[in-house]
Amino acid sequence: MITRADIQELANFHSSEGCAVTFYYQPTTPPNRSHRDDTILLKDRVNNALREGEKKGSQHKSAQPDLRRILEMSDALRTNGRKAKAVFACAAKDFWREFDLPATLPKTNLFLNQHFHLKPLASIFDGIQHACVAVVDRTKARVFEINDGVIVEKLDFINELSRRGRSDGWGGYDAGHVERRVMNETLQHFKVVSEAISGHFQNGGCEKLVVGCHDDIWSEFEPQLHTYVRQRLVGRFRVDPKTATENEVHQLAAELMRQRDEQRKKEMITDVIGEAHRNGRGAIGLRRVLRSLEAGEVQTLMIASSFNAPGVKCYHCGHMDLHIAPTCVMCGKPNAQLEDLGDAIVGHAIRHGIELVYIGDDQQFDRIGRIAAQLRFRADQSTPAKVAV
Ligand SMILES: [Zn+2]
Repeated sequence: MITRADIQELANFHSSEGCAVTFYYQPTTPPNRSHRDDTILLKDRVNNALREGEKKGSQHKSAQPDLRRILEMSDALRTNGRKAKAVFACAAKDFWREFDLPATLPKTNLFLNQHFHLKPLASIFDGIQHACVAVVDRTKARVFEINDGVIVEKLDFINELSRRGRSDGWGGYDAGHVERRVMNETLQHFKVVSEAISGHFQNGGCEKLVVGCHDDIWSEFEPQLHTYVRQRLVGRFRVDPKTATENEVHQLAAELMRQRDEQRKKEMITDVIGEAHRNGRGAIGLRRVLRSLEAGEVQTLMIASSFNAPGVKCYHCGHMDLHIAPTCVMCGKPNAQLEDLGDAIVGHAIRHGIELVYIGDDQQFDRIGRIAAQLRFRADQSTPAKVAV
Protein backbone atom coordinates (compact mmCIF):
# COMPACT_ATOMS: atom_id res chain seq x y z
CA MET A 1 0.00 0.00 0.00
CA ILE A 2 1.13 3.53 -0.73
CA THR A 3 2.05 5.63 2.32
CA ARG A 4 1.97 9.36 3.05
CA ALA A 5 5.77 9.41 2.84
CA ASP A 6 5.55 7.97 -0.68
CA ILE A 7 3.00 10.63 -1.61
CA GLN A 8 5.28 13.30 -0.23
CA GLU A 9 8.09 12.12 -2.45
CA LEU A 10 5.80 11.89 -5.49
CA ALA A 11 4.18 15.28 -4.93
CA ASN A 12 7.56 16.99 -4.64
CA PHE A 13 8.89 15.37 -7.77
CA HIS A 14 9.37 17.75 -10.65
CA SER A 15 11.27 17.10 -13.80
CA SER A 16 11.76 20.13 -16.01
CA GLU A 17 14.15 18.35 -18.37
CA GLY A 18 13.02 14.72 -18.30
CA CYS A 19 9.53 13.30 -18.46
CA ALA A 20 7.47 12.04 -15.55
CA VAL A 21 5.33 9.04 -16.43
CA THR A 22 2.26 8.27 -14.33
CA PHE A 23 0.50 5.02 -14.98
CA TYR A 24 -2.66 3.70 -13.30
CA TYR A 25 -4.06 0.25 -13.95
CA GLN A 26 -7.60 -0.46 -12.78
CA PRO A 27 -8.87 -3.99 -13.52
CA THR A 28 -12.36 -3.96 -15.02
CA THR A 29 -14.95 -6.03 -13.24
CA PRO A 30 -15.68 -9.40 -14.73
CA PRO A 31 -17.88 -10.67 -16.23
CA ASN A 32 -18.50 -7.47 -18.24
CA ARG A 33 -15.16 -7.74 -19.94
CA SER A 34 -12.47 -10.34 -19.97
CA HIS A 35 -9.10 -9.61 -18.38
CA ARG A 36 -7.64 -9.85 -21.84
CA ASP A 37 -9.51 -6.70 -22.90
CA ASP A 38 -7.85 -4.73 -20.08
CA THR A 39 -4.42 -5.52 -21.36
CA ILE A 40 -5.29 -4.81 -24.99
CA LEU A 41 -6.57 -1.36 -24.02
CA LEU A 42 -3.49 -0.79 -21.96
CA LYS A 43 -1.12 -1.83 -24.74
CA ASP A 44 -2.93 0.50 -27.14
CA ARG A 45 -2.47 3.42 -24.78
CA VAL A 46 1.20 2.80 -24.22
CA ASN A 47 1.89 2.24 -27.90
CA ASN A 48 0.11 5.51 -28.73
CA ALA A 49 2.25 7.32 -26.18
CA LEU A 50 5.38 5.76 -27.68
CA ARG A 51 4.35 6.91 -31.17
CA GLU A 52 3.58 10.43 -29.90
CA GLY A 53 6.99 10.47 -28.27
CA GLU A 54 8.59 9.88 -31.66
CA LYS A 55 6.80 12.94 -33.03
CA LYS A 56 7.09 15.30 -30.07
CA GLY A 57 10.81 15.13 -29.73
CA SER A 58 13.32 14.73 -26.99
CA GLN A 59 11.34 15.45 -23.85
CA HIS A 60 8.71 12.81 -24.55
CA LYS A 61 11.32 10.57 -26.06
CA SER A 62 13.07 10.33 -22.71
CA ALA A 63 9.97 8.56 -21.38
CA GLN A 64 10.36 5.68 -23.82
CA PRO A 65 12.33 3.30 -21.55
CA ASP A 66 9.62 3.68 -18.87
CA LEU A 67 6.82 3.16 -21.38
CA ARG A 68 8.46 -0.01 -22.66
CA ARG A 69 8.85 -1.27 -19.12
CA ILE A 70 5.14 -0.63 -18.47
CA LEU A 71 4.30 -2.45 -21.68
CA GLU A 72 6.30 -5.44 -20.48
CA MET A 73 4.35 -5.40 -17.21
CA SER A 74 0.95 -5.56 -18.85
CA ASP A 75 0.67 -9.34 -19.05
CA ALA A 76 1.69 -9.74 -15.41
CA LEU A 77 -1.04 -7.26 -14.41
CA ARG A 78 -3.67 -9.72 -15.57
CA THR A 79 -2.49 -12.24 -13.04
CA ASN A 80 -2.09 -9.66 -10.25
CA GLY A 81 -5.35 -10.83 -8.65
CA ARG A 82 -7.93 -8.06 -8.51
CA LYS A 83 -5.39 -5.44 -7.51
CA ALA A 84 -4.95 -2.08 -9.14
CA LYS A 85 -1.47 -0.78 -9.86
CA ALA A 86 0.26 2.58 -9.99
CA VAL A 87 3.65 3.33 -11.50
CA PHE A 88 5.51 6.65 -11.19
CA ALA A 89 8.62 6.78 -13.28
CA CYS A 90 11.19 9.08 -14.77
CA ALA A 91 14.05 7.33 -16.53
CA ALA A 92 16.00 10.60 -16.91
CA LYS A 93 16.19 10.85 -13.11
CA ASP A 94 16.50 7.11 -12.60
CA PHE A 95 13.17 7.12 -10.73
CA TRP A 96 10.76 4.16 -10.64
CA ARG A 97 8.10 3.48 -7.98
CA GLU A 98 5.32 0.95 -8.30
CA PHE A 99 2.46 0.22 -5.90
CA ASP A 100 -0.31 -2.34 -5.64
CA LEU A 101 -3.53 -0.52 -4.78
CA PRO A 102 -7.11 -1.47 -3.91
CA ALA A 103 -9.11 -1.74 -7.13
CA THR A 104 -11.02 1.52 -6.63
CA LEU A 105 -9.24 3.76 -9.14
CA PRO A 106 -11.41 5.72 -11.59
CA LYS A 107 -9.83 3.98 -14.60
CA THR A 108 -6.69 2.77 -16.32
CA ASN A 109 -4.76 5.84 -17.41
CA LEU A 110 -1.38 7.03 -18.59
CA PHE A 111 0.06 10.54 -18.25
CA LEU A 112 3.29 12.07 -19.47
CA ASN A 113 4.19 15.33 -17.82
CA GLN A 114 6.75 17.23 -15.78
CA HIS A 115 5.14 16.03 -12.56
CA PHE A 116 3.19 12.98 -11.41
CA HIS A 117 -0.60 12.82 -11.53
CA LEU A 118 -1.85 12.18 -8.02
CA LYS A 119 -5.52 13.11 -8.34
CA PRO A 120 -6.68 9.53 -9.05
CA LEU A 121 -5.23 8.58 -5.64
CA ALA A 122 -8.04 10.59 -4.03
CA SER A 123 -10.33 7.63 -4.69
CA ILE A 124 -7.93 5.36 -2.78
CA PHE A 125 -7.69 7.67 0.22
CA ASP A 126 -11.44 8.34 0.22
CA GLY A 127 -13.37 6.79 3.06
CA ILE A 128 -12.47 3.62 4.83
CA GLN A 129 -12.12 0.28 3.17
CA HIS A 130 -11.97 -1.94 6.25
CA ALA A 131 -15.35 -3.21 7.46
CA CYS A 132 -16.69 -5.93 9.73
CA VAL A 133 -19.82 -7.73 8.53
CA ALA A 134 -21.82 -9.77 11.05
CA VAL A 135 -24.57 -12.07 9.85
CA VAL A 136 -26.78 -13.17 12.72
CA ASP A 137 -29.87 -15.13 13.71
CA ARG A 138 -30.98 -16.70 17.01
CA THR A 139 -28.87 -19.81 16.68
CA LYS A 140 -26.10 -18.91 14.27
CA ALA A 141 -23.71 -16.07 13.53
CA ARG A 142 -20.92 -15.50 11.06
CA VAL A 143 -18.40 -12.67 11.15
CA PHE A 144 -16.59 -11.44 8.03
CA GLU A 145 -14.05 -8.77 7.30
CA ILE A 146 -13.97 -6.78 4.08
CA ASN A 147 -10.60 -5.19 3.41
CA ASP A 148 -9.52 -3.61 0.12
CA GLY A 149 -12.48 -5.19 -1.64
CA VAL A 150 -11.76 -8.73 -0.44
CA ILE A 151 -14.07 -10.58 1.98
CA VAL A 152 -12.81 -13.18 4.45
CA GLU A 153 -14.97 -15.21 6.83
CA LYS A 154 -13.41 -14.94 10.28
CA LEU A 155 -15.81 -16.73 12.62
CA ASP A 156 -18.73 -19.12 12.44
CA PHE A 157 -20.80 -19.67 15.62
CA ILE A 158 -23.60 -22.07 16.35
CA ASN A 159 -25.55 -21.60 19.52
CA GLU A 160 -25.71 -25.28 20.49
CA LEU A 161 -27.54 -24.69 23.75
CA SER A 162 -30.56 -23.08 22.13
CA ARG A 163 -30.82 -25.96 19.78
CA ARG A 164 -31.04 -28.48 22.60
CA GLY A 165 -33.38 -26.20 24.50
CA ARG A 166 -35.85 -26.35 21.70
CA SER A 167 -35.92 -30.11 21.34
CA ASP A 168 -36.55 -31.01 24.97
CA GLY A 169 -39.53 -30.21 27.15
CA TRP A 170 -43.12 -30.94 26.17
CA GLY A 171 -45.93 -28.48 25.70
CA GLY A 172 -47.93 -27.74 28.83
CA TYR A 173 -46.29 -27.94 32.24
CA ASP A 174 -42.68 -27.26 31.21
CA ALA A 175 -43.27 -25.07 28.13
CA GLY A 176 -42.94 -21.68 29.84
CA HIS A 177 -39.74 -22.73 31.54
CA VAL A 178 -38.17 -23.97 28.29
CA GLU A 179 -39.21 -20.81 26.50
CA ARG A 180 -37.52 -18.65 29.12
CA ARG A 181 -34.40 -20.74 28.94
CA VAL A 182 -34.28 -20.42 25.16
CA MET A 183 -34.69 -16.65 25.52
CA ASN A 184 -31.80 -16.46 27.97
CA GLU A 185 -29.64 -18.61 25.79
CA THR A 186 -30.44 -16.48 22.75
CA LEU A 187 -29.46 -13.41 24.70
CA GLN A 188 -26.26 -15.16 25.75
CA HIS A 189 -25.58 -16.03 22.10
CA PHE A 190 -26.06 -12.39 21.05
CA LYS A 191 -23.69 -11.27 23.80
CA VAL A 192 -21.01 -13.70 22.65
CA VAL A 193 -21.43 -12.50 19.06
CA SER A 194 -21.26 -8.86 20.13
CA GLU A 195 -18.06 -9.60 22.07
CA ALA A 196 -16.53 -11.22 19.00
CA ILE A 197 -17.47 -8.21 16.84
CA SER A 198 -15.88 -5.80 19.33
CA GLY A 199 -12.62 -7.71 18.97
CA HIS A 200 -12.53 -6.85 15.28
CA PHE A 201 -12.68 -3.15 16.15
CA GLN A 202 -10.19 -3.20 19.00
CA ASN A 203 -7.50 -5.36 17.43
CA GLY A 204 -8.59 -6.05 13.89
CA GLY A 205 -8.60 -2.46 12.69
CA CYS A 206 -12.19 -2.57 11.39
CA GLU A 207 -13.76 0.85 11.10
CA LYS A 208 -17.27 0.15 9.91
CA LEU A 209 -19.89 -2.40 10.87
CA VAL A 210 -22.56 -3.86 8.62
CA VAL A 211 -25.09 -6.31 10.03
CA GLY A 212 -27.06 -8.88 8.07
CA CYS A 213 -30.16 -10.21 9.85
CA HIS A 214 -33.95 -10.30 9.81
CA ASP A 215 -35.98 -7.46 11.35
CA ASP A 216 -37.15 -9.40 14.42
CA ILE A 217 -33.55 -10.33 15.28
CA TRP A 218 -32.34 -6.76 15.00
CA SER A 219 -34.46 -5.41 17.86
CA GLU A 220 -32.97 -8.04 20.18
CA PHE A 221 -29.43 -7.98 18.85
CA GLU A 222 -28.80 -4.26 18.53
CA PRO A 223 -28.96 -3.48 22.30
CA GLN A 224 -26.19 -6.06 22.85
CA LEU A 225 -23.70 -4.18 20.68
CA HIS A 226 -21.10 -2.09 22.48
CA THR A 227 -21.75 1.63 22.14
CA TYR A 228 -18.54 2.35 20.24
CA VAL A 229 -19.31 -0.47 17.81
CA ARG A 230 -22.87 0.79 17.32
CA GLN A 231 -21.46 4.23 16.47
CA ARG A 232 -19.64 2.60 13.57
CA LEU A 233 -22.74 0.89 12.23
CA VAL A 234 -23.29 1.67 8.56
CA GLY A 235 -26.59 -0.18 8.28
CA ARG A 236 -28.30 -3.48 7.99
CA PHE A 237 -29.43 -5.84 5.28
CA ARG A 238 -31.70 -8.91 5.35
CA VAL A 239 -30.08 -12.28 4.96
CA ASP A 240 -30.29 -15.81 6.32
CA PRO A 241 -26.93 -16.71 7.92
CA LYS A 242 -27.55 -20.42 7.39
CA THR A 243 -27.81 -20.24 3.62
CA ALA A 244 -25.98 -17.03 2.58
CA THR A 245 -22.84 -17.50 0.52
CA GLU A 246 -19.73 -15.43 1.12
CA ASN A 247 -20.25 -13.76 -2.24
CA GLU A 248 -23.85 -12.78 -1.39
CA VAL A 249 -22.78 -11.29 1.93
CA HIS A 250 -20.04 -9.34 0.18
CA GLN A 251 -22.37 -7.93 -2.48
CA LEU A 252 -25.12 -6.96 -0.05
CA ALA A 253 -22.70 -5.32 2.39
CA ALA A 254 -20.76 -3.51 -0.34
CA GLU A 255 -23.94 -2.17 -1.94
CA LEU A 256 -25.20 -0.92 1.42
CA MET A 257 -21.88 0.82 2.13
CA ARG A 258 -21.91 2.37 -1.34
CA GLN A 259 -25.44 3.75 -0.84
CA ARG A 260 -24.64 5.16 2.60
CA ASP A 261 -21.44 6.68 1.27
CA GLU A 262 -23.34 8.42 -1.52
CA GLN A 263 -25.91 9.71 0.95
CA ARG A 264 -23.19 10.94 3.33
CA LYS A 265 -21.50 12.82 0.49
CA LYS A 266 -24.77 14.49 -0.56
CA GLU A 267 -25.23 15.69 3.01
CA MET A 268 -21.64 16.92 3.15
CA ILE A 269 -22.12 18.97 -0.03
CA THR A 270 -25.25 20.65 1.32
CA ASP A 271 -23.54 21.22 4.64
CA VAL A 272 -20.33 22.75 3.24
CA ILE A 273 -22.30 25.13 0.99
CA GLY A 274 -24.38 26.24 3.98
CA GLU A 275 -21.27 26.79 6.10
CA ALA A 276 -19.55 28.77 3.35
CA HIS A 277 -22.57 31.00 2.84
CA ARG A 278 -22.76 31.75 6.57
CA ASN A 279 -19.02 32.48 6.68
CA GLY A 280 -18.69 29.40 8.84
CA ARG A 281 -16.47 26.36 8.58
CA GLY A 282 -16.79 25.79 4.88
CA ALA A 283 -14.81 26.84 1.81
CA ILE A 284 -16.15 26.41 -1.71
CA GLY A 285 -14.49 26.99 -5.04
CA LEU A 286 -10.83 26.76 -5.97
CA ARG A 287 -9.70 30.23 -4.88
CA ARG A 288 -11.09 29.89 -1.36
CA VAL A 289 -9.97 26.26 -0.97
CA LEU A 290 -6.38 27.12 -1.94
CA ARG A 291 -6.35 29.91 0.62
CA SER A 292 -7.70 27.58 3.33
CA LEU A 293 -5.16 24.87 2.47
CA GLU A 294 -2.30 27.33 2.89
CA ALA A 295 -3.75 28.65 6.15
CA GLY A 296 -3.89 25.07 7.48
CA GLU A 297 -7.63 25.36 8.07
CA VAL A 298 -8.78 22.31 6.12
CA GLN A 299 -10.11 19.25 7.88
CA THR A 300 -11.70 17.51 4.92
CA LEU A 301 -11.06 18.21 1.26
CA MET A 302 -13.87 17.38 -1.15
CA ILE A 303 -12.85 17.06 -4.78
CA ALA A 304 -14.79 15.87 -7.81
CA SER A 305 -13.43 13.18 -10.08
CA SER A 306 -14.03 15.69 -12.89
CA PHE A 307 -12.21 18.59 -11.21
CA ASN A 308 -9.73 20.18 -13.58
CA ALA A 309 -8.17 23.62 -13.39
CA PRO A 310 -4.85 24.90 -14.68
CA GLY A 311 -2.54 26.78 -12.38
CA VAL A 312 1.00 27.08 -11.13
CA LYS A 313 2.98 25.53 -8.33
CA CYS A 314 6.21 26.68 -6.79
CA TYR A 315 8.34 23.63 -6.02
CA HIS A 316 10.49 25.80 -3.78
CA CYS A 317 7.96 26.93 -1.15
CA GLY A 318 4.98 24.81 -2.19
CA HIS A 319 2.67 27.72 -3.02
CA MET A 320 -0.13 26.87 -5.47
CA ASP A 321 -1.92 29.53 -7.45
CA LEU A 322 -4.64 29.68 -10.06
CA HIS A 323 -3.11 32.82 -11.57
CA ILE A 324 -0.59 31.76 -14.17
CA ALA A 325 2.54 33.76 -13.42
CA PRO A 326 6.19 33.00 -14.23
CA THR A 327 7.35 33.48 -10.63
CA CYS A 328 5.95 32.62 -7.22
CA VAL A 329 4.13 35.49 -5.46
CA MET A 330 5.29 34.16 -2.10
CA CYS A 331 9.02 33.58 -2.62
CA GLY A 332 9.84 34.89 -6.10
CA LYS A 333 11.25 31.59 -7.38
CA PRO A 334 10.15 30.28 -10.81
CA ASN A 335 6.72 28.64 -10.95
CA ALA A 336 5.95 25.36 -12.70
CA GLN A 337 2.83 25.47 -14.86
CA LEU A 338 0.34 22.71 -14.17
CA GLU A 339 -2.39 21.63 -16.56
CA ASP A 340 -4.39 20.56 -13.55
CA LEU A 341 -3.93 21.87 -10.02
CA GLY A 342 -5.93 18.86 -8.82
CA ASP A 343 -2.79 16.72 -8.67
CA ALA A 344 -0.91 19.21 -6.53
CA ILE A 345 -3.93 19.76 -4.27
CA VAL A 346 -4.51 16.04 -3.70
CA GLY A 347 -0.80 15.53 -3.05
CA HIS A 348 -0.86 18.37 -0.53
CA ALA A 349 -3.94 16.95 1.21
CA ILE A 350 -2.55 13.43 1.55
CA ARG A 351 0.81 14.73 2.77
CA HIS A 352 -0.83 16.83 5.46
CA GLY A 353 -3.16 14.12 6.71
CA ILE A 354 -6.24 15.96 5.44
CA GLU A 355 -9.23 13.66 4.98
CA LEU A 356 -10.10 13.29 1.31
CA VAL A 357 -13.60 12.86 0.01
CA TYR A 358 -13.96 11.98 -3.61
CA ILE A 359 -17.21 13.20 -5.19
CA GLY A 360 -18.64 11.47 -8.25
CA ASP A 361 -21.04 13.22 -10.63
CA ASP A 362 -23.09 15.74 -8.69
CA GLN A 363 -24.75 18.80 -10.23
CA GLN A 364 -24.83 20.77 -6.99
CA PHE A 365 -21.10 20.16 -6.54
CA ASP A 366 -20.39 21.09 -10.18
CA ARG A 367 -22.00 24.49 -9.59
CA ILE A 368 -19.63 25.36 -6.73
CA GLY A 369 -16.54 24.59 -8.77
CA ARG A 370 -16.07 20.86 -8.04
CA ILE A 371 -13.91 21.55 -5.01
CA ALA A 372 -14.74 22.40 -1.41
CA ALA A 373 -13.37 22.01 2.09
CA GLN A 374 -14.73 21.50 5.57
CA LEU A 375 -12.64 23.63 7.90
CA ARG A 376 -11.33 22.94 11.39
CA PHE A 377 -11.33 26.67 12.05
CA ARG A 378 -11.13 29.94 10.19
CA ALA A 379 -7.89 31.81 10.59
CA ASP A 380 -9.58 35.18 9.98
CA GLN A 381 -12.08 34.60 12.81
CA SER A 382 -10.18 32.59 15.35
CA THR A 383 -8.98 33.58 18.72
CA PRO A 384 -6.77 30.85 20.21
CA ALA A 385 -9.63 29.62 22.40
CA LYS A 386 -11.83 29.02 19.40
CA VAL A 387 -9.36 26.88 17.51
CA ALA A 388 -10.59 23.31 17.31
CA VAL A 389 -7.99 20.61 17.65
ZN1 LIG B 1 7.38 29.95 -3.78
